[in-house]
Amino acid sequence: MRGTPIPMPPGSDRALLDPFGRAITYLRVSVTDRCDFRCVYCMSEDMAFLPKRDLLTLEELDRICSTFVRQGVRKLRITGGEPLVRRDIMSLFRSLSRHLASGALDELTVTTNGSQLARHAQELAACGVKRINVSIDTLDADKFRRITRWGDLSKVMAGLDAAQAAGLKVKINTVALKGVNEDEIETLIEWAHGRGMDLTLIEVMPLGEIEEQRIDQFLPLSTVRARLAARYTLDDLAERTGGPARYVRIRETGGKLGFITPMTHNFCESCNRVRLTCTGQLFMCLGQEDAADLRAPVRASEDDAALERAIVDAIARKPKGHDFIIDRRHSRPAVGRHMSMTGG
Ligand code: SAM
Ligand code: SF4
Repeated sequence: MRGTPIPMPPGSDRALLDPFGRAITYLRVSVTDRCDFRCVYCMSEDMAFLPKRDLLTLEELDRICSTFVRQGVRKLRITGGEPLVRRDIMSLFRSLSRHLASGALDELTVTTNGSQLARHAQELAACGVKRINVSIDTLDADKFRRITRWGDLSKVMAGLDAAQAAGLKVKINTVALKGVNEDEIETLIEWAHGRGMDLTLIEVMPLGEIEEQRIDQFLPLSTVRARLAARYTLDDLAERTGGPARYVRIRETGGKLGFITPMTHNFCESCNRVRLTCTGQLFMCLGQEDAADLRAPVRASEDDAALERAIVDAIARKPKGHDFIIDRRHSRPAVGRHMSMTGG
């Protein structure tokens, strides 16, 4: 069934509209499947990575992003894998910043594990990046090492300092893990809010084969929220990002707390985003297998006409919603690819 088309502002005839009338204004781009961490819920320890030749070059990534911007995308998020480990990644930020300067793009941002932030924060800010997301699940260095397998919390902390010193607004992303960091959530909130950073809690999603039993890690955020509500005053915020996040302000800390509950379906009708992998596959929905190949049209000609057509055709296939299930009857992941491939 077709939805009621969303009215577009004047002059937005370039907008990409999907079959349900949703305007696609947000592109998340995974620039690499590689990472210097091996978080237990994200990757297996012996991940096999893609051969380099399959990856889009930085120039190809720029061409695809710029085509989306011409077609009405207003926000780009660079992610991965760990985006800041890709060689010469700052050249992509530098070139994409021209769309901020021209006013064609509202926001260029990044999701990172923070390990390389200390050396890149200044330049990100110089490229017009205003806000970044940094993923931290614990403030305990040993636990951090256990969760990320290879990560060093002190490096991430140095990255946070550098980011804040460069004037970047930081949001912390924390995956809520049963029996792992559930006892630390209040500490994390008070730490983040005390440093002027918002914090968003994320439910574990069933993506990709990993060694761990995901059902054992799954901690419903409804439970966490009920516990927090007993301790703090949570004021609901009307703010919506077109994604699966809901926000509250905690009166006692003054900071913002988000809840990302991708397992529920209540956000699909306002979904404004699509995801590009580092090999040029465009996923129209995080929870579905269907993807369109944008690498072939980008490599087929220097002219962008075929690429533009491929994007419009792909958006016309965007599904109404996803179908994640995590329970004991479904022991396999709902979607076979890892988050590091599709981009978080
Ligand atoms: N490496 C960067 C980082 O960790 O921020 C960017 C990519 S990472 C895939 C993006 C986000 O996805 C991180 O916040 C991470 O915690 C989250 N993530 C990874 N696997 C997940 C899963 N199975 N369920 C929920 N969130 C996941
Ligand atoms: Fe790497 Fe981010 Fe996945 Fe952790 S969550 S393994 S940092 S891509």
